[in-house]
Amino acid sequence: MADKIKTPRTKEMEFGGFLGASALIFLLPGTVLYLLLTCNTSDASLLRLPGPLPSLESLWNPFALVVLLGWVALQALLYMLPMGKIAEGITLRDNTRLKYKINAFQAFLVTTIIAGVAVVLQLPLSYVYDHFLQFAVASALLSLALSIFLYMKSLTAPESALAPGGNSGNPVYDFFIGHELNPRIGSFDLKYFCELRPGLIGWCLINLCFLMKEIELRGSPSLSMILVCGFQALYVTDALWHEEAILTTMDIVHDGFGFMLAFGDLCWVPFTYSLQAYFLVSHPQELSTVVAVVIIFIDALGYIIFRGSNSQKNAFRRNPSDPSVAGLETIPTATGKRLLVSGWWGLVRHPNYLGDLIMALAWSLPCGVSHILPYFYVIYFTGLLIHREARDEHQCLKKYGLAWQEYCRRVPYRIFPYIY
Ligand code: NDP
Repeated sequence: MADKIKTPRTKEMEFGGFLGASALIFLLPGTVLYLLLTCNTSDASLLRLPGPLPSLESLWNPFALVVLLGWVALQALLYMLPMGKIAEGITLRDNTRLKYKINAFQAFLVTTIIAGVAVVLQLPLSYVYDHFLQFAVASALLSLALSIFLYMKSLTAPESALAPGGNSGNPVYDFFIGHELNPRIGSFDLKYFCELRPGLIGWCLINLCFLMKEIELRGSPSLSMILVCGFQALYVTDALWHEEAILTTMDIVHDGFGFMLAFGDLCWVPFTYSLQAYFLVSHPQELSTVVAVVIIFIDALGYIIFRGSNSQKNAFRRNPSDPSVAGLETIPTATGKRLLVSGWWGLVRHPNYLGDLIMALAWSLPCGVSHILPYFYVIYFTGLLIHREARDEHQCLKKYGLAWQEYCRRVPYRIFPYIY
C-alpha cells in the first residue's frame, strides 16, 4: 500500500539548485575550518586572508575520532534507554504516524552528571580545547560518512518515504537536501536523534571544556565566559525540555535527512556555535558588572519573546480553546486551522525568530566589541532566519492562500517590528 503512494518530483529547488548545493558541500566545512583557524590567531581578524593550509597532523587525530564516536554512541545509548515518554509525529502521506521517544532532557541530565564527575575527578577536559580543530575535522568526516550512508539507504526506500523537497532526481541536490524524509534503522530515527542530542548537548560540553581551559590558564573562569556558557546552556536546556515541539518543525516535517542537516547537526552547530567561548580562551575580555547586567537583561528579553511566542503557538495548535490562548484574535483559513493575529503573533509574523536573534546578540556581547569574529553567530543566524522565514512564508502562502495574505496585511512586518 505504502509503495503505491508516490512522492511527487521536486520541481522548485532551493539553495541555488544543483550548483548551490554542490558549492555548499565544500563551503560549509571550509567555513568551519576558516573560523577556527582565524580564532586561533592573535588578531582573530576575519579580514585576514586564509594562510597556508595547516599540516595534516594539526587536522587529523584518530583519537579525536574515537572520542567522537564514543560520544555519539553514549547519546545513542541514552536515546534507546527506556526512559521518557513516547509521542506521535504528524500524519504522513501514507496516513501513518511515526512514534518518537521524548527523553532528550533526561539524556542531558545523565550527561551533566557524567560531566560533573569528570570535573570532580579532574579529568583533562581542556584536551578538547587543545585539539579542537581535530575534533571538528573528525566530526565533518563523520557527517560526510553519515550523509553517504543516508543517500545509499534512500535508494532502497519506498517511494512514499522520500522527502517532498529532496526528490529532484539530481543525485547531488538530493544528497545535499536529503532524499529520504525519516530514515530509520528499526525504531531508531536517525534524523530525530541527530537534531538535538549529539550536537546540541555536545555544544554545552564543549563550552564546559573551554571554561575548564580558562581555569587551567588563569585560575578562574571569567565573567564573560560564565555569561556565554550560562546563556547557551539555558538555550540548550530549553530546546531539550521542549523536545516534542520539534516534531512539527520544518526540519522534521518537510526536509529530508541528507548532508545539509547531518553536517549542520553534527559539525556546524557544536563547532561554530561554541565560537564565543573558544574566542574567550585566547582573547580574554574584562566585563564590568553594569555591562554584565545590561547583557543579562538583553538575553532575558530575547528569551521571554522566544519562549513566549513558541509556547503560545504550540498551545494554540494543540488546543485552540486552551485558556491561555482562547482570548486571542484569530483568522480562519480554508484548511480549518486558524492563524493567530494578536498576542506575540500579532507583533510580527515570526516573533520567535526575533527573540532568538536578540539572544544571539547577547551571546556575542560578552566578547567585547573589538572583534567581529564572535559576532559571526548573530550575523550568520540573521541570514539563516531571514532565509528560513522566506521558505516558511512560501509554504504558508501555498497552504493558506487568501487567509495568509490577510494575515500579512494585518501583521505587515516579518521579524523586526517597523524594520523588516
Ligand atoms: P516556527 O515555529 O516559526 O513555525 C512556523 C509555522 O508556524 C508555520 O509554518 C505555520 O505552521 C505556523 N504559523 C505561522 N504563523 C502562525 C500564526 N500567526 N498562527 C498560528 N500558526 C502560525 O518554525 P521553525 O521551525 O522555523 O522555528 C522554531 C524555533 O526554532 C524558532 O524559535 C526558531 O528561532 C528556532 N530555530 C533555531 C535554530 C538554531 O539553529 N538555533 C534553527 C532554526 C530554528 P502551521 O500553520 O502548519 O502550524
